[in-house]
Amino acid sequence: MCREKINEIDVKRHSAAHILAMAILDLHPDARLGIGPVIEDGFYYDVETDSPITEDELKKIEKKMKKLISQNIDFEKSEMNIDEAREKFEKAGQKYKVEIIDDLANEGTQSLTNDVSEKKTVLIYKSKDFEDLCRGPHVKNSKEINAKALKITRLAGAYWKSDENRKQLTRVYGVLFDTKEELDEYNKRLAEAKKRDHRKLGKELDLFTFSDLVGPGLPLFTTKGTTLRDTIVDKIQTLQAKHGYEKVTIPHITKKDLYETSGHWDKFGDELFKVKGQSDQEFVMKPMNCPHHTQIFAAKPHSYKELPLRYMETTMVYRDEQAGELLGLSRVRSISQDDGHVFCTPGQIEQEVQNIVSVIREFYTSLNMFDEGKCWVSVSVRDSKTPDKYLGDPKNWDKAEAILEEIAKKEGFDYKKVEGEAAFYGPKLDFMFTDAIGREWQLATAQLDFVMPERFGLEYTDENGNKQTPVMIHRAIAGSLERFLSVIIEHFAGAFPLWLSPVQAVVIPVSDKFNDYGQSVVERLQSEGFRVELDDDSETLGKRIRIAQKSKIPYMLVVGEKEVADNTVAVRSRDNGDEGIIRVDDFIKKIKKEIS
Ligand SMILES: [Zn+2]
Ligand SMILES: [Zn+2]
Repeated sequence: MCREKINEIDVKRHSAAHILAMAILDLHPDARLGIGPVIEDGFYYDVETDSPITEDELKKIEKKMKKLISQNIDFEKSEMNIDEAREKFEKAGQKYKVEIIDDLANEGTQSLTNDVSEKKTVLIYKSKDFEDLCRGPHVKNSKEINAKALKITRLAGAYWKSDENRKQLTRVYGVLFDTKEELDEYNKRLAEAKKRDHRKLGKELDLFTFSDLVGPGLPLFTTKGTTLRDTIVDKIQTLQAKHGYEKVTIPHITKKDLYETSGHWDKFGDELFKVKGQSDQEFVMKPMNCPHHTQIFAAKPHSYKELPLRYMETTMVYRDEQAGELLGLSRVRSISQDDGHVFCTPGQIEQEVQNIVSVIREFYTSLNMFDEGKCWVSVSVRDSKTPDKYLGDPKNWDKAEAILEEIAKKEGFDYKKVEGEAAFYGPKLDFMFTDAIGREWQLATAQLDFVMPERFGLEYTDENGNKQTPVMIHRAIAGSLERFLSVIIEHFAGAFPLWLSPVQAVVIPVSDKFNDYGQSVVERLQSEGFRVELDDDSETLGKRIRIAQKSKIPYMLVVGEKEVADNTVAVRSRDNGDEGIIRVDDFIKKIKKEIS
């Protein structure tokens, strides 16, 4: 049997998870173990203990693990009858393992081949006297693990089986690398990420807030945060309008019938917020906009001459993410989508995808995120081994996949054709960006959809008077604005490019004698469309400059006697420091040029 090639470091990380469990059992013999999988950079183990594991204990756990690793412990694999295994873990008081075994008994065992599973056995890995239910693989001996590249990092709460109604266990996180240098590098990256944390910067820059009365995962954007959002949306909509996109507006709730027709009712399941009105009719908050948009298209008959029709709308959708999954703006329950849909003929796919790609290129270039090496494109196509998974005419698929690859090639993208990454309803282009500290994010996307138009019975009349089903293209430029903001706040560490900064310049009079002149400079700049504030607080000049620096305002314009006399400003730039004294008109020219 052919098995996926397993990453060597992940085998070590998984083995370290077992050693973590051993160390915890040593300090808390009563510990009931949950699961201990591999994650990015490391591993964790979920445990339940009578006396809680404390932060202070993490060092002790790490030390114990290192000691165990140094003992050159063998990992031995064996196969055990499932009933025997159940009895064994039950006797040991490992109730969560017993639950896993019961699940395996119902759903088939974790063993890798079908014939083993018919034997009703499970795999057990033994290291010293510790035995764990596990599919493996593992290192042969703990000496393969570099104890110097190991660190136990933190604790968190985690519901058993991610179910809020179940017990909350303690999750102990660790990281493991091949070398000490990689661990140092990781620590450095972590410190940098902490400094840039969008939750911290969001507060410092006064962009958004949360309220206990409103609820978790429901961010409230301040005036500055709203300016930031609107500036992004305006930019995207202006770029799209050039390609014939027009705005539409839909309500935030719908009858469930819409999602029963689209097929999303089951897919979103528990994530749907349900709304009850006066009648018996059940409504839901929309978790997506596409089905609503199909109903605008469906409202009247269309001729091929009208196509493509291009709708755009920035609107919120709502998904009931589990409380434990919510995180700042990265994971929220109210999600603002910069959404858009194209309805076109198969022959128009190429031009329409090309248009979307130009918008993506222009938008991300304005953020300096499109440069060489910072972006790659996934041409996400079908998995050739499971063609039945995909709906729609295979001939359309073949053509569409070829078009997407052709565009990626023609545009000179650094692209990879990734098999199996297509959605079941169509292939797509996914744009992956690398941020300032090397993390990769999928932000923009263009997805073809051969299925939804059919489900809703959408039609147009072709040249010969025959009814045809249009192709639908879903596209996202920024995607969810909340997630996008979390990414760019951290990418820029809050120092946004000039065009995007909520406040582009602050005028600082050296004393209140010059406030009137300062105010006139503010008004002059505002009349040119810039976002400018006056800081006439009674603080010292030095303090006000420091506040402006901390707020990451791109330009500070200091004005005093000389500036009043000459109609000038003394320019201090956030990025380049002192830039000298220039006439107000010249400053306007300078920043206009910088923005364009
Ligand atoms: Zn294991
Ligand atoms: Zn869509």
